[in-house]
Amino acid sequence: MTTGVWVLGNQLWPDQAALASCEGKVPVLLIEALTFAQERWYHKQKLVLVWSAMRHFADELKDAGWPVTYAIADDTETALRDWITAEGITELRLMDPVDHPFTAWLESLDLPCQLTRLDNNLFLWRTNDFNAWANQRKSLLMESFYREGRKRFDVLMEGDQPVGGQWNFDKDNRKPPKGKLSTPAPHWFEPDATTQAVIDKVERLEVTTFGQATPFRWAVTREQALEVLDVFIVDRLETFGPYQDAMVTGEDTMWHALLSPYLNLGLLHPLEVVERVEQTFAERDLPLNSVEGFIRQVMGWREYMRGLYSHFDADYAQRNWFNHQQPLPEFFWTGEVEMNCLHQAIDQIQRTGYAHHIQRLMILSNFSLIAGFTPQAVKDWFHAVFIDAYDWVMQTNVIGMGLFADGGLLASKPYASSANYVNKMSDYCKGCRYNPKARTGENACPFNFFYWNFLHRHRDKLQTQGRMTFILKNLDRMKPEELEALQQQAQEWHQAHP
Ligand code: FAD
Ligand code: SF4
Repeated sequence: MTTGVWVLGNQLWPDQAALASCEGKVPVLLIEALTFAQERWYHKQKLVLVWSAMRHFADELKDAGWPVTYAIADDTETALRDWITAEGITELRLMDPVDHPFTAWLESLDLPCQLTRLDNNLFLWRTNDFNAWANQRKSLLMESFYREGRKRFDVLMEGDQPVGGQWNFDKDNRKPPKGKLSTPAPHWFEPDATTQAVIDKVERLEVTTFGQATPFRWAVTREQALEVLDVFIVDRLETFGPYQDAMVTGEDTMWHALLSPYLNLGLLHPLEVVERVEQTFAERDLPLNSVEGFIRQVMGWREYMRGLYSHFDADYAQRNWFNHQQPLPEFFWTGEVEMNCLHQAIDQIQRTGYAHHIQRLMILSNFSLIAGFTPQAVKDWFHAVFIDAYDWVMQTNVIGMGLFADGGLLASKPYASSANYVNKMSDYCKGCRYNPKARTGENACPFNFFYWNFLHRHRDKLQTQGRMTFILKNLDRMKPEELEALQQQAQEWHQAHP
């Protein structure tokens, strides 16, 4: 019996379940396949990140004594079969993939050896545990899940009560960006020879990609990712909370952690991130609203999104509750648009593959929702342009949280807003040709006419959502002529932005 382990590109953790299950140093395979880049569009820096991190991880395994094959191949299946034959593998061990499409492909393979799949241990919650929690509840509110996680993993708890007497300090974490803010510089790295070789490869690839490959400054090893975590804890965590929702021109990262690319690849484990932050809270006098706010992101939102992804049926990806059918305008791929907030966000993503949560939620997906773009086209766009995008994190965040295309399985109301929100939480409107206060007319901000038109078009559906009652009363005060003008302006905008 010859056992071999196949490590996928987003399973780069030395204690991942398949490696950890082996008693000795068995043959290990990693496949850098061109098919990955051909199946869908990706940001160039995403390809560089994944392939460079895989190459580094393969080297680390070799240094630790594992016999590693690093296959640079045209397609995954051929490389896998060739390796199984060459090594005489009779049992292939693989940690369960997270993404459904990959799992379906794996299950369609008729391999010439036994396949042993091991429970994915790169999340705090195992899927069975999440399903057991979800199956005994009528409503799957994130807040209930988060509280259960805090208790289960004993994080920020004093006995059975939350530290500070409250579970959630969100109300302290919505400061608008007033005056000059002194933000910390992000912790970046210069590419080493391995990364540079991957950059050269990606620049030469004959596949459609998005964004710039350089400057590439992301971490590509666990050691570097741990450095980013350290820097976050020392320089950024204290102020993470208050300005979590703020957006400022030229400030791509604010106080955000920049950890999602590494968590999603397995370079960092969520439990170690949460424990490090909790330990620092105990050692230093850090504000609880920042510490709790961050922990809620990682052990609340991240685990919840993954849990729901595995819990919902496969048709979740096709949901379109509002029946939105507008095609995504071309400027989403170029950033060439007069709306300054969208221009700034897309321009930044082209340069880095990154935008922070509020840019993703309240600029990019909020606009996509109120303008009525097809949810699946929006999801594909998000998947193509972000450095940390994977199917599991895309579906619930874009289809559910961002676009409410699941009709409220996940969020308790649509994240839809007019220009008021952008104007309050960012400085983008100051540099914009549109007027954030105007609803109609030549200078009216598109966020405004689309927002009110969205409420008007979907009034019947929205009134079933309790949290929309107040805003629908404001809609009812609008004169029919104004509603017609909003509708007209929305239509004209679509025609002018194919
Ligand atoms: P911080 O703001 O510092 O947060 C800390 C960590 O919390 C993140 O690193 C991330 O691991 C976790 N987290 C927080 N919220 C979420 C969430 N809703 N889902 C999953 N993890 C979360 N996250 C991705 O990892 N990949 C994506 O492709 C992605 N696409 C998104 C699309 C939309 C429309 C929305 C609304 C959110 C999306 N998110 C995605 C979630 C979140 O915006 C990013 O995880 C976060 O912006 C990453 O930056 P950061 O590490 O600086 O995060
Ligand atoms: Fe965006 Fe409107 Fe503000 Fe311009 S005025 S930045 S389009 S919200």
